[in-house]
Amino acid sequence: MTLQETIKLDEMYYMNTFGSRTPVQFTHGEGSVLYDTNGKAYLDFLAGIAVNSLGYGHPTLVKAIKDQAEQLLHCSNLFYIESQAKLAKLLSDLNNGGRVFFCNSGAEANEAAIKLVRKYFSDQNLHKYEILTTYNSFHGRTLATLAATGQEKYQKPFLPMPEGFKYMPYNDLDAAKASVTPETAAIMVEVIQGEGGVIEGTQEYIKGLQDLCKEENLLLVIDEVQTGIARTGKWFGYENYGIDPDIITLAKGLGGGIPIGAVMAKGKAADVLTPGSHGSTFGGNPLSCSAGLAVVETLQKAGFMDKVLSNGQYLKEGLKKLQQQFSFIKDVRGIGLIIGMELDIKIPGKQIVGLALEKGFVINCAGNNTLRFVPPLIIKEEEIQKLLEALSEIFTQKRKEDTL
Ligand SMILES: *Cc1c(COP(=O)(O)O)cnc(C)c1O
Repeated sequence: MTLQETIKLDEMYYMNTFGSRTPVQFTHGEGSVLYDTNGKAYLDFLAGIAVNSLGYGHPTLVKAIKDQAEQLLHCSNLFYIESQAKLAKLLSDLNNGGRVFFCNSGAEANEAAIKLVRKYFSDQNLHKYEILTTYNSFHGRTLATLAATGQEKYQKPFLPMPEGFKYMPYNDLDAAKASVTPETAAIMVEVIQGEGGVIEGTQEYIKGLQDLCKEENLLLVIDEVQTGIARTGKWFGYENYGIDPDIITLAKGLGGGIPIGAVMAKGKAADVLTPGSHGSTFGGNPLSCSAGLAVVETLQKAGFMDKVLSNGQYLKEGLKKLQQQFSFIKDVRGIGLIIGMELDIKIPGKQIVGLALEKGFVINCAGNNTLRFVPPLIIKEEEIQKLLEALSEIFTQKRKEDTL
């Protein structure tokens, strides 16, 4: 089908939740390159929003999915599932112990984390249910995770929100301390606010939150949906902060493109979700867990993580050099291969995204007018070099037009 035919069907039959989408239809990809219906090639620095961690057509992942599809796609959780048990062990080892529950998305993983927090305290007959989250966060689109998401614009049409969430400014430890009440049960944060514009939590803040949780008997929940599974060059984003959270949530990159989410919990929190208290039909099914195993085992190969780090460094330094040349670049931030470049509001990020697309580069614009770079983790240095050159051309052109 041509792009125009797809657009027509979409406009007639698909709920218009995504507005006017970028008028491109990808047909296939290879490595970090995507191809559209016109045969045009694009270097991908978005990876389906931090999902396609092994890029496109990765032989290990493709084989795992093919083999599993031939054997058994789905099986009820009434039965034991080999790939589910194996992936649970693997993730538990990487997270230094604890248990896992699998679901199908980031929102669902956070939803499970919220339930876990509430049951943890109600099991102890404690009236602690409130979860502190931060402004500018993003935790998902279900009602509870929307309530956890401290952004009014997402919540407004769906009021009233489920109770039990309180917001505090990000990177403000004093505000966190002041927000704790006897009803507070947990703090839930991203170590880097991804959708919010790649805002890094400071060392002092993230460590301080862990100390606060210990002092006040709160659970620390880290939403690793975007930062987890090697995105920052470590298995989990929290490792960059030397903390040990009680609960983490995963999704996006874990299945390399196959939908899978996970909530992981340690210590006493690991045994809270008991028979009947939670479940999922699709969660942890053989297909998604086989994909997850293939992704994690590939990332575990010697040298892979080092490459993520060195390529991330290369990208960040290249963007910082651009910042020195163009005054409308306000900031470059991020860790590993989640990097943001904040632009002055005079230069709409969306416009830059469009110009990059014309040149054959897929990027996007997150909160705070910030260009976001979350390429496949297999991206190569020479591919990053190409992006940097293209951005330099675009910015030079922009400066001429706007005489900035
Ligand atoms: C994307 C994202 C979510 C939501 O994940 P879905 O799979 O879209 O439900 C939650 N938290 C963070 C940090 C995310 O980046």
